[in-house]
Amino acid sequence: MGWAIALHGGAGDISVNLPAEFRQPREAALRHCLQIGIEALKAGKLALDVVELVVRELENIPFFNAGRGSVLTSNGTVEMEACIMDGKTMKCGAVSGLKTVVNAISLARLVMEKTPHIYLAFDGAEAFAREQGVDTVDSSHFITPGNIERLKQAKEANRVQIDYTQPVKKDTDNETSVEDGDSQIGTVGCVAVDNQGNLSTATSTGGFVNKMVGRIGDTPIIGAGTYANNLCAVSATGIGEAIIRGTVARDVAALMEFKGLSLKDAASYVVEERVPRGNVGLVAVSASGEVVMLCNTTGMFRACATEDGYSEFAIWSALQN
Ligand code: ASP
Repeated sequence: MGWAIALHGGAGDISVNLPAEFRQPREAALRHCLQIGIEALKAGKLALDVVELVVRELENIPFFNAGRGSVLTSNGTVEMEACIMDGKTMKCGAVSGLKTVVNAISLARLVMEKTPHIYLAFDGAEAFAREQGVDTVDSSHFITPGNIERLKQAKEANRVQIDYTQPVKKDTDNETSVEDGDSQIGTVGCVAVDNQGNLSTATSTGGFVNKMVGRIGDTPIIGAGTYANNLCAVSATGIGEAIIRGTVARDVAALMEFKGLSLKDAASYVVEERVPRGNVGLVAVSASGEVVMLCNTTGMFRACATEDGYSEFAIWSALQN
């Protein structure tokens, strides 16, 4: 049994004409974060520490919709959320509605380890952050010029009105594609299995651009955007409402547990059959070191590596062809 790691930088409608100036920094950032994860696993770190480490790094990179770089609510504010789960102990922690916490994923871990609860949100989560002494900054730190522009464009296009019960139509008029770098994608996630077979997952996001104030997506919801047990660890991305309805991450684990499916078959079934096209992507690893990176969107920034030397970086899915 060897270690394995996979990470994503968000799924969505990613045009094949994505300009190099948009693609290259994200690709470089994902490769850099993958390397950090590989080195930590090689050094014998626990999967839980590795996924937190990698997601913290992704949160600190402003190209992604998490931490610095989080997309904005309809009021122009940030409300970040994150979740972490340890498959062996089934312990988990989640946070929502953060406005000042630099690394939401580490606060989620503190919720898991230092409280009798699983999920803290808004004022209570902010107060807990202060009590724990984690790094906080003025909310303006998270608001990038790119995201101010994205919010403006989303308001003009009334973009939050997505019918998540239906397949997302492939964008032909370029209203929601990232052709010009105008992305609402970029949620980050990491799953890992260490060489003792421990599975962990972590996901972090600013949510959806132009979301209502107070909206909570799939990322912090255990079993929707994030889930791990002794069989697999899953981190999902895409349209949160569709992912919550599909109980995406838990369904992958449930198909393995109850039907004896392989990770690949379980994830393929969930992504292809259970969630309308254009709504979801996920990365997952199994206890035996199997890695899956799948989406039913046109693309998902993703990367993985395994102990036997296999490594992959990809953006587009077969749907794009
Ligand atoms: N799933 C996230 C949300 O709905 C967004 C994303 O993955 O891009 O909050």
